Amino acid sequence: LIFQLMAVQEPYAFNLIMIVISLIILLFFIAKIFGHVVNSSLSNHQHFIQIQHEHETLKERFFSLFDRAPVGIFYYDERLLLLDANNLFLALHNSDKESLLHEDLHQLNNKMIIEELNAVFKDKTGHYRGIFTPLKSENERYVEFSTVPLIDNDGHISGGICILDDITEEVNAKDEILRQAYYDLLTNIPNRTLFMDRLERALITSSAHNTKGAVLYIDIDNFKSINDTLGHQNGDLLLKQIVERIGNLGSEEYTVARLGGDDFAILITGLPPRMESATDLVHLIARSYKDQFLQPFSIDDKEYYISISMGISFFPSNNESAYDVLKHTETAMYHAKKLGRNRIELYSKSMNEEISVILDMENSLRAAIKQNDFVLFFQPQVNIATDTIISAEVLIRWRRKEGYCTMPAEFIPIAESSGLILPLSEFILEASIKQMNTWTNRVNPLNIKRIAVNISAIHFAQANFVTQIKSILNKHMVDPKHLELELTEGVALFNIEETIQKIAELKELGITFALDDFGTGYSSLDYLKRLPIDYLKIDQSFIRNIMNDKENRIITDTIVTVAQNFKLKVIAEGVEDVRQLAHLKSIGCDIYQGFLCSEPVSAHEFEALVMQSDKKHSR
Ligand code: C2E
Ligand code: CA
Ligand code: CA
Repeated sequence: LIFQLMAVQEPYAFNLIMIVISLIILLFFIAKIFGHVVNSSLSNHQHFIQIQHEHETLKERFFSLFDRAPVGIFYYDERLLLLDANNLFLALHNSDKESLLHEDLHQLNNKMIIEELNAVFKDKTGHYRGIFTPLKSENERYVEFSTVPLIDNDGHISGGICILDDITEEVNAKDEILRQAYYDLLTNIPNRTLFMDRLERALITSSAHNTKGAVLYIDIDNFKSINDTLGHQNGDLLLKQIVERIGNLGSEEYTVARLGGDDFAILITGLPPRMESATDLVHLIARSYKDQFLQPFSIDDKEYYISISMGISFFPSNNESAYDVLKHTETAMYHAKKLGRNRIELYSKSMNEEISVILDMENSLRAAIKQNDFVLFFQPQVNIATDTIISAEVLIRWRRKEGYCTMPAEFIPIAESSGLILPLSEFILEASIKQMNTWTNRVNPLNIKRIAVNISAIHFAQANFVTQIKSILNKHMVDPKHLELELTEGVALFNIEETIQKIAELKELGITFALDDFGTGYSSLDYLKRLPIDYLKIDQSFIRNIMNDKENRIITDTIVTVAQNFKLKVIAEGVEDVRQLAHLKSIGCDIYQGFLCSEPVSAHEFEALVMQSDKKHSR
């Protein structure tokens, strides 16, 4: 166009050229500007697509992180309503998203947890470690969590994010390690380590607060033979049952621990500072523990009566260590054992000496059994109706130096706790039966029906008890009807089924049985009904002051009535004067024994007594 116009040679053509050139220049600038705009918008668009892509990846990453994170994550709003939760959190609840969303977290019902969730609204982070009961569940877990504020687009806190770790397994594993270190595996009560730890602490606090504390030491009587009879598995069952009884007793503040084997200790704190009050209280507590053993234990549908020996010692005194306190308690328990079991002893300093005396006696006893330093004494048993001597109770005497005898009450418990009772019992049985043979088989037989021999629990519990008796009777050719065996309640009751069986077997031969010291132990009518015995011996403690003590008189009268109902004959022990005898006669007691007729005497003297009694009646 410009070249055509240049050929025109007119002024307007020049103007038109100028206009066209201006237009071209204008177009050029416009194109440049628009080109720029288009270019930048094109590159913006590309950038946008890239950002969008990155955003998508991020979002994806985030959601997969959120959902599959190895921790529980959830969001909540200002009202503590659940906004979203990830898989692990849902799994913890054993639930799906639909049923959990919008649940009110106040339902967690744990003040500390709610507080930490709310911390975010004060623009703080919250932390919690402890028990967590998931929503709509009772299944307790252990968790650790942190909360951070959830900020909306305007920068306001609109809720919270919680990241939670289920540490149940870890806590359980730690608990298990602790449990193994501090708790007894069999019974799940504190072990010696934990007990000593608590005792040490108790020593410190009792000194600081001027209070007293005490340790009770419990040992099961004859546990070894119980374990042997029952088998170890049942022995374990028995220990568990024992813990069920003594562990649930008393206040939570008492620590009941198993120190090992059949040894238990109980820590009692916060006792009154005055010794008298503390002693009274502890005796009451000790009694209540001991009473837990009055009822039989049941294993394999069989009943077992078990007794315990208990030692007590108080603290603090003389800056003793926890070790010393426990040692003292053990010494007191040991003392209780040596004094005949089934009793409670309070520790005293002199005990250590006494125990060495006991150990000395144990050694002498061992030697005495070898050398046969024992003699049988006989105490007449008198038929009250006819006033004639009908039998004798054999009572053992230990002949020491020149003319001096040690009494059975002193050495029988020691013989029992040392196991020496077995050879000793065998000797007593054999000597008694031999003596009976002499009396019945001589030209002029002694006019008595039988002799009664005391049987110790440990001896009776022996598996070969019945065969042993049979063979001794055979050996000395003595009719079993001449033998009576005296059992105490403790002997009879440990394993009542076995006792009944043993008694029945021996009764079949003609042996008779008496239940000794009746009224001092369990005295339950239930077992009295079941035991196939012939005689009931009322303990001498009731007879002793029968004339002055109304209560004892009532007990005696009741025992006689009960015995008569059960068709048992009654023997009264410890009758010392005629008034006692008159009363016993009036209530229908059958036989008596006591200083009124005679003390226990030698075989020779006993023969004289019987002959005297015979002569009196033949006149
Ligand atoms: P236990 O079987 O209750 O024997 C009765 C005890 O009372 C005997 O004491 C006897 O001497 C005593 N006594 C008898 N009459 C009277 C009386 O009128 N007044 C008083 N105050 N006491 C009287 P001992 O001989 O010292 O025996 C004590 C315990 O030792 C016996 O009590 C018995 O449990 C045990 N024992 C004695 N001999 C043997 C034995 O051969 N074997 C076994 N395993 N234990 C025996
Ligand atoms: Ca007796
Ligand atoms: Ca007795």
